[in-house]
Amino acid sequence: MVKICCIGAGYVGGPTMAVIALKCPDIKVTVVDISTQRITAWNSDQLPIYEPGLEEIVKQCRGNNLFFSTEVEKNVADADIVFVSVNTPTKTQGLGAGKAADLTYWESAARMIADVSKSAKIVVEKSTVPVKTAEAIEKILTHNSKGINFEILSNPEFLAEGTAISDLFNPDRVLIGGRETPDGNKAVQTLKAVYAHWVPEDRIICSNLWSAELSKLAANAFLAQRISSVNAMSALCEATGADVTQVAHAIGTDSRIGSKFLNASVGFGGSCFQKDILNLVYICECSALPEAANYWKQVIKVNDYQKTRFVNRVVASMFNTVANKKVAILGFAFKKDTGDTREAPAIDVCRGLLVEKGQLRIYDPQVPPEQMRKDITMVRFDWDRNVALRSLGDDELKQVTVVHDAYEATIDAHAVCILTEWDEFKSLDFKKIYDKMQKPAFVFDGRNVVDVGKLREIGFIVYSIGKPLDA
Ligand code: NAD
Repeated sequence: MVKICCIGAGYVGGPTMAVIALKCPDIKVTVVDISTQRITAWNSDQLPIYEPGLEEIVKQCRGNNLFFSTEVEKNVADADIVFVSVNTPTKTQGLGAGKAADLTYWESAARMIADVSKSAKIVVEKSTVPVKTAEAIEKILTHNSKGINFEILSNPEFLAEGTAISDLFNPDRVLIGGRETPDGNKAVQTLKAVYAHWVPEDRIICSNLWSAELSKLAANAFLAQRISSVNAMSALCEATGADVTQVAHAIGTDSRIGSKFLNASVGFGGSCFQKDILNLVYICECSALPEAANYWKQVIKVNDYQKTRFVNRVVASMFNTVANKKVAILGFAFKKDTGDTREAPAIDVCRGLLVEKGQLRIYDPQVPPEQMRKDITMVRFDWDRNVALRSLGDDELKQVTVVHDAYEATIDAHAVCILTEWDEFKSLDFKKIYDKMQKPAFVFDGRNVVDVGKLREIGFIVYSIGKPLDA
């Protein structure tokens, strides 16, 4: 039986390995992590992450051919294929701080693999890493082991949180990068055979290592660039009376442009887009390509601008102050169907409103209250200048109440801000909400989920991203 071990039981390692275990009953899959808390959760009924469909798969496979363990070294030593899916955040100190990827976790995983391995292994880069990382990994592995053969492959993950399971079941493509060898690289063939259990052959793309590593950064940069493009357009729509939904529909019907990923919003979030673009910017700068670096930087600048614009719109609309006014925040996760808040636009919007002395009542169906408080007060960086931003403290935190229901959040509120597109927000009874709010009652829709016309009929003053403003 082929044995797979995945280092890192996070948003990628967990779901990816669960699907491999489900689709490949002939493979033993063990996911290891240094975090006891995470592994305990994976072995319990309360999984550490929320993804539609994940729980059922874990329940079906756990204990059969899917295992979660903190015995990192033993399981790595036993494995034929070692996936490395550890976090690769942005460096906050030293050379490249604020842009370059922090490969500390990767390096320590690679040193450990070299240390404990007694047999040949295929080492798979599942984490998103800078192009040429495989070269560094190879050096670490070969210089720290005694004649063991390691074949390094790049197999970046393209799943999106919230749809991870369906993305893994039915991927647009699986990308495998490996060194070109005269025998057609046996390691590539072995990994291909794993995915071939359920992925059609024409969707498994093979490339050289550097193309695979760079493709992941390129894919995220292109996706984020699309959001920033439509968001930049949304600002112009508000200034001119055009409607961004109509513009997006009109341009999206052009088959060269396509209709997906054209929803204007308060901005993109998640752990990957900003981090991976900054990584790309750094690589461009190191390659003496300043104009290419500037191009990608602009994608993040527009995203920051969109969040600032939103906060400014809220404050300006509410007669230039939100001081001591109650603002209901609906949604905190960076997108619907996930409890992940990493780089969620809600963090910056809430911080902006707290600096203006607003009183926030926050509701999100999946994010734990302590996580929201931690996010709001954690140190934030200005990535462009690489300086820490003003920290928020206990005084500001006193202005935050976390509630368990959208209606509860809106009682007595002066305004409602929708910051995540959870489906339940589309079907809220806005008449009921309006009746219990302060007047004039404002709705600031950062996700374009509400029916603006209906809400205006009820009596709300509505701001929706990229839509014509109230007269
Ligand atoms: P995560 O932070 O959720 O999980 C990483 C896990 O690795 C953590 O649980 C951590 O404890 C563990 N870890 C770190 N060092 C370790 C070590 N030496 N030994 C054992 N465990 C260790 O991160 P994630 O969101 O799963 O992302 C992982 C990688 O995948 C990143 O490079 C990310 O950019 C990339 N990626 C993420 C997504 C996504 O949607 N989250 C999508 C595609 C790619």
